[in-house]
Amino acid sequence: MGIIEKMRLDGKKIFVTGGARGIGKSVAIAFAEAGADLAIVDLDIAEAEKTAAELEQNHGIKAIAIQTDVTKPEDVEAMIEKILHVFGRLDVAFCNAGICLNIPAEEMTYEQWKKVIDINLTGVFLTAQAAGKVMLKQGGGSIINTASMSGHIVNVPQPQSSYNASKAGVIQLTKSLAVEWATRNVRVNCISPGYIGTELTLNSPSLKPLIAQWNEMAPLGRMGRPEELQSICVYLAGDTSSFTTGADFVVDGAFTCI
Ligand code: NDP
Repeated sequence: MGIIEKMRLDGKKIFVTGGARGIGKSVAIAFAEAGADLAIVDLDIAEAEKTAAELEQNHGIKAIAIQTDVTKPEDVEAMIEKILHVFGRLDVAFCNAGICLNIPAEEMTYEQWKKVIDINLTGVFLTAQAAGKVMLKQGGGSIINTASMSGHIVNVPQPQSSYNASKAGVIQLTKSLAVEWATRNVRVNCISPGYIGTELTLNSPSLKPLIAQWNEMAPLGRMGRPEELQSICVYLAGDTSSFTTGADFVVDGAFTCI
C-alpha cells in the first residue's frame, strides 16, 4: 500500500468540537474526504446539523451533530455516550472549540478572563480527557488539540492576554497528556495556526480592522485559509503519524519566525 493510501481514515470515528464552522468544519470536511465518520460537536446545533448533513451528502460517510458546551463536564460526558452509542468506538478527537476576547488586561473582569480560560483551556482538557478515557480502554487513539501561534508569541496590536495564556496552556497540556499516555498508544498533538480567515477574525468588530496591519507584518503577506490546516490534521489523525506524539505544529506562514 502506498503512503497516500495509508493516510486514509476509512471507518475511523472522529469528533470535532467547534465543528459547525471555521477551522473545525474545514478539517471535518478533510476527515470525511479521507473516509471517516464524524460527530460535529458545537454549541450551535442548527449550524452543526447543517454541517453534518453536508458531510453525509458530499462524502457518503455517516455524520451526526451533537450540541455540547465543552466547558460543562456533564455535556462532554453525554457527548461521548452518544458517540459510543452511534459509532461504537472513538478513534480520533479534534478538540478545537475556542474563542478570543480582545480586552486590555487592566480592564478585564474576572468573568471575562474565566470565560476564555474555561472554553479554550478547560474545554480542551475536558474533551481530551473524555476521549482519552475511551481510547485508553480501546487500546489506542489520536487526539489533536487546537492551540495557536498566540501560545508562542504576543500578538500585536490587539490586547488578548487571556487568549495567549489559554493557548500556551493548550500546548503544555498537549505535551503532558502525550507523555502520560504514550506507552498506552494514545497520541496527543496540537496545531498552532497563525491568523486564519474565519468568523473569529473576519467578522470580529475588534479584529477585522487589523487585518491589513497583520498582513503587512506577515512574511507571506496574507492570512491563512482554513483548508491550509486540513492536511496536517489528516496526517495526525491517521496511522502514518504513529511516532508523532507530544508535538506542536506551527502553521503560520512563518509569522512567528520574525
Ligand atoms: P470560529 O469562531 O469560526 O468557530 C468556533 C466554533 O466553536 C463556533 O462554531 C462556536 O460556536 C464553537 N464554540 C464556541 N464556544 C464553544 C463551547 N463552549 N462549546 C462548544 N463549541 C463552542 O473560530 P475558528 O474556526 O477561527 O477557531 C477554531 C479554533 O482555532 C479556536 O480554538 C481558535 O482559538 C483557534 N485559532 C483560530 C485562529 C484564527 O485566526 N481564526 C488562529 C489560531 C487558532 P458558536 O458559534 O455557537 O459560538
